Amino acid sequence: MISQFTSSVVSNQKLGEKIFKLTLSSPYISKRAKPGNFVHIKVGSTYSPLLRRAFSVHNVDKQKGSFEVLLKVVGRGTGILSEKSPGDILDLLGPIGKGFSLPQEGKTVMLVAGGMGIAPLWFLLNNLIGKTDKEKLLFFSGAKTEKELLYCENLKDLGANLMVTTDDGSFGTKGLITDLFLKEIKGRKNDSSKLMVYSCGPPEMLKRMSEISKGYDLSCQISLEGNMACGVGACWGCPVKLENGWYKRVCVDGPVFDAREVVLE
Ligand SMILES: Cc1cc2nc3c(=O)[nH]c(=O)nc-3n(C[C@H](O)[C@H](O)[C@H](O)COP(=O)(O)OP(=O)(O)OC[C@H]3O[C@@H](n4cnc5c(N)ncnc54)[C@H](O)[C@@H]3O)c2cc1C
Repeated sequence: MISQFTSSVVSNQKLGEKIFKLTLSSPYISKRAKPGNFVHIKVGSTYSPLLRRAFSVHNVDKQKGSFEVLLKVVGRGTGILSEKSPGDILDLLGPIGKGFSLPQEGKTVMLVAGGMGIAPLWFLLNNLIGKTDKEKLLFFSGAKTEKELLYCENLKDLGANLMVTTDDGSFGTKGLITDLFLKEIKGRKNDSSKLMVYSCGPPEMLKRMSEISKGYDLSCQISLEGNMACGVGACWGCPVKLENGWYKRVCVDGPVFDAREVVLE
């Protein structure tokens, strides 16, 4: 159930240029959030900016009753959030949305993150560790440059098979993460039914993931980050077109969709 509540900032850690990890106190979210859910945050105490900003739940700590959001400063709202200090109070709605469905036993699981798309996939990965054979767990992480790559060491420590690209070749393979992913899929095209793919990233990347999933009939769940207003399904301000001609709302029908179901422009 979506609730509105206040939450205090536990910590605000700078992880990279314009990238911050906010830890927020909330036993409610830490117990209820599932990978793929998001929270809608009112960034200040005034009516400007008016609209809440959406952030994927990045991880939870049930023992401490807290959760994390990973944010990149792209405009005014994220700029305000990046300046929050421990003890500051935020007004939140959450947990919102349909999250990722966990893979059936025996599947090979591939997580494909582009830039800040790692935010919800990190929470998912932490849920999969211990339940999925590590040899069958592949993590593809792409970023523009080495400076924007997050958690490479942590991913290795967790035991995931890590594949990395940067657009400029400053770390890992030079190129797009979707190209590396496609190469892997081509090599496994005879057993694509044994794969379960999860992805999040910028719109162009998810469009490509959707094309690849349709082409190889892959079971692939993508988390969309379209602009949204109310965040609770009332305003229909975040429609996504479906292959059958209908529309769904990113906020409450998603943000996670089957990549074969949606038409991304
Ligand atoms: C379900 C969901 C989960 C998200 N999870 C995260 C997350 O974990 N970490 C994170 O950093 N961001 C996440 N986002 C994106 C985040 O909500 C936007 O970056 C934020 O709202 C921008 O607010 P702003 O006031 O800083 O920027 P604005 O001034 O509103 O916009 C600055 C720029 O960002 C673009 N923009 C604004 N909102 C969005 C949006 N929702 N999606 C894509 N582009 C946008 C604008 O077109 C503009 O170019 C998520 C969005 C959704 C819908």
